Amino acid sequence: MLPNILNKIIIFALKIKTILDSYRHKGLRNQLVEELRLKGISNLEVLEAIRRVPRHLFLDNAFGEWAYKDNAFPIDCEQTISQPYTVAMQTSLLNIEPKNKIMEVGLGSGYQACVLHEMGAKVYSIERHKHLHDKTAKRIHEIGYGLIRTFFGDGFEGLPRFAPFDRILVTAAAPENVMKLIDQLVVGGIMVVPIGKNNDQIMYRISKLEDGKIKKETFGHYKFVPMLPGTA
Ligand code: SAH
Repeated sequence: MLPNILNKIIIFALKIKTILDSYRHKGLRNQLVEELRLKGISNLEVLEAIRRVPRHLFLDNAFGEWAYKDNAFPIDCEQTISQPYTVAMQTSLLNIEPKNKIMEVGLGSGYQACVLHEMGAKVYSIERHKHLHDKTAKRIHEIGYGLIRTFFGDGFEGLPRFAPFDRILVTAAAPENVMKLIDQLVVGGIMVVPIGKNNDQIMYRISKLEDGKIKKETFGHYKFVPMLPGTA
């Protein structure tokens, strides 16, 4: 009986320890926000969302110390957590309005999904790696982001059952044929997607206009892991 209770107390204490967001981490996060501002991110809501999300809880322990550097880092299944600047840039380009329903393709670590949640959006995020999906779904739930809905599946298919979306964000390097996701966008909706091969993609903002036309704008070069078909 007693060891059982002790066990529970120890597990609880360990959980609190991982959830803990220390003053040191908050300080490092303030520095990161300042760095992003200096690099040209001017959307205050995006900066505040980044200030709130404890990025150190999205990295494996080995990289925890560097969580607030403006770098991408490896996560499970040979994938990466995006660089904060890229997260800030993609989030800014989405022009999010309160309560927007957003589909993210590429849940990965879940960090970007949490930033979208902090922007007041209803987030639906898809991941093609089962292991990564399950691990991330559990983690974001544990650290208080249980309202984000995660899906294991192929992002090329989108989420027809939950469409249409106000915004779509692709966080992996997509080929041109990802354009069919636009069908799952509301009229007046926006999709932000890096398109291109290998080590060089162009960031696109694609708007679905009232008259059914599509407007495309480009925003420079980025480097993402590839968007791959099927599940793993
Ligand atoms: N948004 C993530 C970035 C992860 S990297 C974060 O903040 O950490 C891109 C992710 O897209 C990887 O986890 C990769 O497995 C996933 N991905 C690639 N192709 C996909 C597809 N067709 N459907 C869903 N996810 C995909």
